[in-house]
Amino acid sequence: MARVGVMGGTFDPVHYGHLVTAEEARVQFTLEHVFFVPNRYPPHKALDQVTDPEHRYTMTQRAVQTNERFSVSRIEIDRPGPSFTIDTLEALRKEYRAQDLFYITGADAILQIVRGEWERSAELLTLCQFIAASRPGFPLEVHDLRKYNVTGRPLDNLHVMEIPALAISSTDIRRRVAEGRPIRYLLPDEVAEHIAEQGLYRRSVRSLE
Ligand code: NAP
Repeated sequence: MARVGVMGGTFDPVHYGHLVTAEEARVQFTLEHVFFVPNRYPPHKALDQVTDPEHRYTMTQRAVQTNERFSVSRIEIDRPGPSFTIDTLEALRKEYRAQDLFYITGADAILQIVRGEWERSAELLTLCQFIAASRPGFPLEVHDLRKYNVTGRPLDNLHVMEIPALAISSTDIRRRVAEGRPIRYLLPDEVAEHIAEQGLYRRSVRSLE
């Protein structure tokens, strides 16, 4: 059976940090395909703080179009209510076995999960493999994961992956657009075009945070 990756995100907007992480996971873990899953309603953010889900979905689609091993799923965009990751992984588990399904996260997200801060975190950790990206500036130590693990179960399905440093963040990109500063080379040109065409992020960034 195919091994697949799932890269969840708010992607507001998607940028090269997300793409590098997914590609590194694909190669290091011999994944046949990586599905990017933009959320509709991020459970950890107020709805008025995030851009319309259809814009975030379109930007993510435009970002992955040159990689035949990447695609974008509407599973969370089309599901009403908060986009809990556990609901997404439970749905995907109908198609993939736990050993073939790899959820790709950053350092912050995986620490939140092992601390039990996500919806049904302990159960979530049983559903698939986890690839946690450690990057300069956001280092992830295995002993931190063990120290903060409140789930009461071993974390042997959790893999730490080193990725190259890319000091890019969606928050900084939004701020740059609001301030009229360049965003070229921080994200694919197609995403920058969508931002310009649709006039996204032009209002003060303060109201976006
Ligand atoms: P995001 O800002 O779009 O980021 C997506 C992922 O990319 C994150 O894991 C983030 O790592 C990583 N990333 C960001 N910048 C990067 C860079 N320069 N280089 C490498 N990696 C980078 O999405 P988000 O708002 O953090 O949400 C992530 C996912 O968690 C979403 O699918 C959301 O729905 C889910 N979530 C679920 C629950 C729940 O089910 N209760 C709660 C919270 C979040 P970091 O983790 O280090 O920021």
